[in-house]
Amino acid sequence: MCIFCDIVAGKIPAYKLYEDDEVLAFLDISQVTKGHTLIIPKAHCDHFLACDSEQMQAVMRVAQRLGKHIMESIGANGMHILSNIHEAAGQSVPHFHVHLIPRYDENDSCVITFNPSEKQNLEQLQKQLTL
Ligand code: AMP
Ligand code: ZN
Repeated sequence: MCIFCDIVAGKIPAYKLYEDDEVLAFLDISQVTKGHTLIIPKAHCDHFLACDSEQMQAVMRVAQRLGKHIMESIGANGMHILSNIHEAAGQSVPHFHVHLIPRYDENDSCVITFNPSEKQNLEQLQKQLTL
């Protein structure tokens, strides 16, 4: 179905760090920083918002456990946990995955910048977005 399904099926090799019946974790081939890791559900779903809550919880449980382990094992000083949804947000593989990106210092090879946009009407946004 997709390249990550091929990894789950063993058709493409990966440097696996964790595996159970539902979840697989492996090193990202591009290593934005040393130890950059992906956690995926074995069953295909397109992205975080599209998967069922059991899948999501299984992935996030492993992300937390492996995140702690990587932090302790590799000497990182911080970590990003992120999941891109759709191309507009930089998703290039359409199979839900969580990135663990260890950070060593502010000047390492990972750049994630939050630039403020034009001023927003927060009152209107609250009305529009409250669940
Ligand atoms: P995203 O851009 O959020 O969809 O992330 C997809 C990630 O998958 C990228 O960081 C790629 O480097 C990574 N990737 C693509 N193909 C492979 C592969 N065969 N093995 C490991 N990581 C991969
Ligand atoms: Zn897939």
